[in-house]
Amino acid sequence: MRLDATDLRYVLPDEFRVLTAVEIGSKNHEVVPTSLIAEISAVRGGNVNKALGALAKRDLVARVQNAKYDGYRLTYGGLDYLALRTFSRRKPPSVASVGKKIGVGKESDIYVVKDEERDSRVLKLHRLGRISFRAIKSKRDYLGKRKSASWMYMSRLAAQKEFAFMKVLYQHGFPVPVPIDQARHCIVMSLIDSYPLRQIDKVPDPADLYSKLMTLILEFAHAGLIHGDFNEFNILIKRKDGEPIVIDFPQMVSTRHENAEYFFNRDVNCIRRFFTRRFGFVGTTWPTWKDVLEEEDAGVEDEADGAEANGAGEETTVEGETEDVEDSPKPSVGDPKAGKRLRLDLEVEASGFGRALQRELEDYMIEVQDMPLSGPEYEEDEEADGEEDGEEDQVNAEEEADLSEPADPTPPAPFDETAFQSQIST
Ligand code: ADP
Ligand code: MG
Repeated sequence: MRLDATDLRYVLPDEFRVLTAVEIGSKNHEVVPTSLIAEISAVRGGNVNKALGALAKRDLVARVQNAKYDGYRLTYGGLDYLALRTFSRRKPPSVASVGKKIGVGKESDIYVVKDEERDSRVLKLHRLGRISFRAIKSKRDYLGKRKSASWMYMSRLAAQKEFAFMKVLYQHGFPVPVPIDQARHCIVMSLIDSYPLRQIDKVPDPADLYSKLMTLILEFAHAGLIHGDFNEFNILIKRKDGEPIVIDFPQMVSTRHENAEYFFNRDVNCIRRFFTRRFGFVGTTWPTWKDVLEEEDAGVEDEADGAEANGAGEETTVEGETEDVEDSPKPSVGDPKAGKRLRLDLEVEASGFGRALQRELEDYMIEVQDMPLSGPEYEEDEEADGEEDGEEDQVNAEEEADLSEPADPTPPAPFDETAFQSQIST
């Protein structure tokens, strides 16, 4: 299946204004009244309805007939479109074309995309709500009552959080993809030429890989972090050298989290169990929570406990890291400055993804964690490994949707997009 919104070329200026107006209106309205869309977009007369019709036809908005009034809501297609447009308008564009879908996660879609130089990258679109839509009603009702639990809002939080953690981890030399860009519910990162550990039947030296992974869990914890979903789906094994790269960070927590010990042990046990089952390797040693605490005691006194920072930037780029992503020299893991203990959890808070936002996302994650998983990635049957759904197999890897702007036959409307966009906050 193609990313529906990839063809940015056929949205006219008025349609874009109207689409953006629907997004802005969605902040306060489940269904945005048509009259409000007209007001925000300042598109005149019948042109609003015309634009809405065109957008609805492309599934970028959906018409909702409500008891009280008629209106529209933004669809994930519309949100995808807006995020891709943002990426394609960066200088240089962080995404210039969209290619093959390579993964359907629990609550995400993963695409290979290209930059202007035609180098491949990965686009991850968060799709929170995917599980919950299928889940039991009581939970949905619970979430439905929370005003801020709109799925798109949660998906933005997940993307912001994932990007914030990936950035901090990358900057400190942890083996994670290179974080490149984030907008709305999407992140762009380097493509790792790899297989997920889940798909690997044999490794040359299981003991060595086991030990590397356990060391990583401990290094995360020494830096104040617990991955929280450290398993064979989220560990990629590089084709080149068999080294592990860790992905998927929306559920990371601080070692100060109230359930930190539980999450830590769960990560450790996931690896132990997987190595026993898959490689017949039974680890005789593994890190314990005591190891984490001992290190904390030995460390320097903590600084002020938690700069509460908020107002995460809606759209951020890692300056200067869009180039030579794979080749840039990395600091060594941990990179301790004169014995000062790393507190990456605090760094993330200070970077803009503060505790309040983390809490909000976490409440959602706790709600959905026991819900039935879906997607080929999660099929119990080992035979299902590596299978994509049939539709995807037919997509030619070379087939791309070009995101470059067309030569526009109609003169652009005078429209200050920056001012318009700045009305959109999270
Ligand atoms: P989810 O949160 O839905 O589990 P993940 O971030 O774990 O999503 O990604 C799902 C799958 O997509 C991974 O198991 C992996 O196969 C693939 N993938 C994700 N990121 C990358 C990447 N940077 N490079 C290569 N493959 C990736
Ligand atoms: Mg995953």
